[in-house]
Amino acid sequence: MRIVDLYGQGRPIFSFEFFPPKTDAGENKLMETMADLKSAVEPDFVSVTYGAGGSTRDRTHGVVTRIQDELGITGMAHQTCVGASRADVLDNVKRLVASGIENVLALRGDPPEAQETFEPPADGFSHANELLAFLSAEFDLSLGAACYPEVHPEAPSAKEDLDWTCAKVKSGAGFLTTQLFFDPDLYVRFVSRARKAGIAVPIVPGIMPITNLGQIERFTKMCGAELPEPLRERLQRCGDDDAAVMATGIEHAITQCRQLLEAGAPGLHFYTLNKSHATRSILAALR
Ligand code: FAD
Repeated sequence: MRIVDLYGQGRPIFSFEFFPPKTDAGENKLMETMADLKSAVEPDFVSVTYGAGGSTRDRTHGVVTRIQDELGITGMAHQTCVGASRADVLDNVKRLVASGIENVLALRGDPPEAQETFEPPADGFSHANELLAFLSAEFDLSLGAACYPEVHPEAPSAKEDLDWTCAKVKSGAGFLTTQLFFDPDLYVRFVSRARKAGIAVPIVPGIMPITNLGQIERFTKMCGAELPEPLRERLQRCGDDDAAVMATGIEHAITQCRQLLEAGAPGLHFYTLNKSHATRSILAALR
């Protein structure tokens, strides 16, 4: 199933993102988590991230293939520009297509840990719009891209970031998924600016249920998202009570998701961090 055709059917599309585990045992455990998720919430599709290098890259391909073949769920593979020439990308995506994968989220990727800034590889791509143009010319895929309600941290301005988002859509992105954020108004304002700039494709909010305060503070710092102060204070008041942090995170996400769907979001994309409890609880409340 092509994901671009899923949106716009008059019902919200619920999707889940996982990262590929490093070992076979981890991969089998993840398949069990996804099987549980499937029977509990019937995801519309599942996406699998693409790592900075090494064996987890092959695992992205392997996990998406297993999701489709063993669980019968539509899968999407992420593909980045990091450490790959055009020939490497061509080879990798040819293998995805040969395995029946029709959906690719095309990203630039973050610089590997040892590098401060992103260095385009020799004969590779500098930005996601270039990767999208290449994939559109070479394949008949359903393509998506990332967007940033709070502006990508490297962007000189919100205007330039939006201009490059437009370039990604012109280069073939049929839908956009947002970076995580916690204030629904940020999404509403971003969609309004995007529509004015001529972006007509579905813009899907990315939701990260908070399950650990330290972890979410690290993530938000890395990706330039803001944890609203009242929410941070509520989480701090939970102290070492992990169950209370989880309950607070879930409660916030339910309110956020309801507001986003009421505001017309075409679906919700959950950053699961390979755990299903929080996402399942949120969806149970929404349905
Ligand atoms: P780009 O669109 O290339 O943007 C990067 C920066 O360059 C922005 O500041 C933008 O304004 C600017 N820019 C864009 N195009 C141009 C241009 N042509 N010329 C000049 N400036 C330009 N990372 C991974 O490594 N693996 C994953 O699987 C992964 N999955 C993700 C999924 C989602 C839904 C999201 C939101 C992010 C994901 N990321 C992933 C993180 C992502 O790779 C980073 O946010 C990265 O820093 C930017 O990727 P991008 O595709 O948005 O890049």
